[in-house]
Amino acid sequence: MTLIPNYKTMRWKNRRESRNVEDRRGEAIPGGYSRRGMGIAGGLGVGRIIFSVFRRASGKMKMVMIGAVIAAMVFFGFDPLSALGMGGGAGGGGIFGSSGKTEQVGTAPDADDEYGPFLRSVIGMNEDFWAKELPKYDIRYRPAQVRIYSIGTKMDDGSVADARMGPFYLPAENRIYIDPTFFEQMRDEFNIKGEFARAYVMSHEYGHHIQHILGRTTALHSKHGKISKTEYNQESVRLELHADFLAGILAHHDDKNFDSLDRADILSAMACAKAIGDDMLQKRAGQRINSDHFTHGTAEQRARWFMRGYTNGKLEEGEQIYTMDYNRL
Ligand SMILES: [Zn+2]
Repeated sequence: MTLIPNYKTMRWKNRRESRNVEDRRGEAIPGGYSRRGMGIAGGLGVGRIIFSVFRRASGKMKMVMIGAVIAAMVFFGFDPLSALGMGGGAGGGGIFGSSGKTEQVGTAPDADDEYGPFLRSVIGMNEDFWAKELPKYDIRYRPAQVRIYSIGTKMDDGSVADARMGPFYLPAENRIYIDPTFFEQMRDEFNIKGEFARAYVMSHEYGHHIQHILGRTTALHSKHGKISKTEYNQESVRLELHADFLAGILAHHDDKNFDSLDRADILSAMACAKAIGDDMLQKRAGQRINSDHFTHGTAEQRARWFMRGYTNGKLEEGEQIYTMDYNRL
C-alpha cells in the first residue's frame, strides 16, 4: 500500500485474456457521424443534428429530450451507464438510426494500444470468477460477448451503437459495447484516473450480464408500462445498485485470489461510482435534484453498494437490494 495514490496500481498484466472480445476499432462507421471535439470531419449524421438542437434547448426541453433518449434506451434494452453525464450531454445518435452510408473510419488502435489487452484481461477476470461462482448456486454460467469499437458500430439488429451513449450492456445480444475513449472522458471531464475505475465500469456492465442470467433484467422489462414511471425508475435503481454490488464482489475475490488491488484502486472506483451518481449528474447538468428521475442511484448509494460487495464478497448478500424498503437502499 502506498500513501501517495499511484493511479496505475491495478495489477492486471499477465492475466488471462478473454477470447470473447471482438475489436472493431478502425472499421468503417455506418452513417458517418462525427465525434465532437475529436477533430474528425464528418457529414451531418443524425446524431450530430440532434446534438446541435440539444445545445440550443432550454433546461426543461433538455430534460424532455434526455427522457426520450432514456425511454428509447430502456425500450431497446440498453444500459446507459452514464449517457447523460459523459459525452457532454449529447443525445444518442445511434438509437435514431443512420443514413446507412459508410463515410468514415473509426480510430484504429495505436501500436502501443493498451485498451485492447486491458479490456480482454478485465473481461477474463470476470469470466474466470463468475464461471466458478454461479455453479455454487446451481446457476449455469454463460460468458458475455464484448464489442470494442470506435465512434460507432452496427449492432446485430442493424441499429448503430454510438460512443456518446457510454458503455452499455445489450441483453438481446448478451453483449457489452464499449468505445474505450470513454475512459479518456472519465479522466478529462470527471478527473477519474486509475485503471481500476475503468475495471469497475466494465465489471458493472458484466454485472448486468450476470443479472440477465439471473433473470433480473427480464423481470424489470416485463414491468414496463405496468407500473408508474417513478416506480419503474426505482426498480431500475435497484438493478443498477446491484450491478455496482456485483462489481464489488468481483473486486473482493480478484484481490483475494490474485492480490490485484491496492487502496488507491478502491478509492478510484469509489470516486467513479460517486461521479456517475444520478444526483451528481443532475447537478452537473444544472438541474435541480429530482429523485423521481433517478435511474441509477445517488453518488452515496452507488459507492456504498460497491463497497459492500467489495468488503463482503457474498453474492446472496445482494439479494436484499430487491426487497429492501426503497428509502433505505
Ligand atoms: Zn448499469
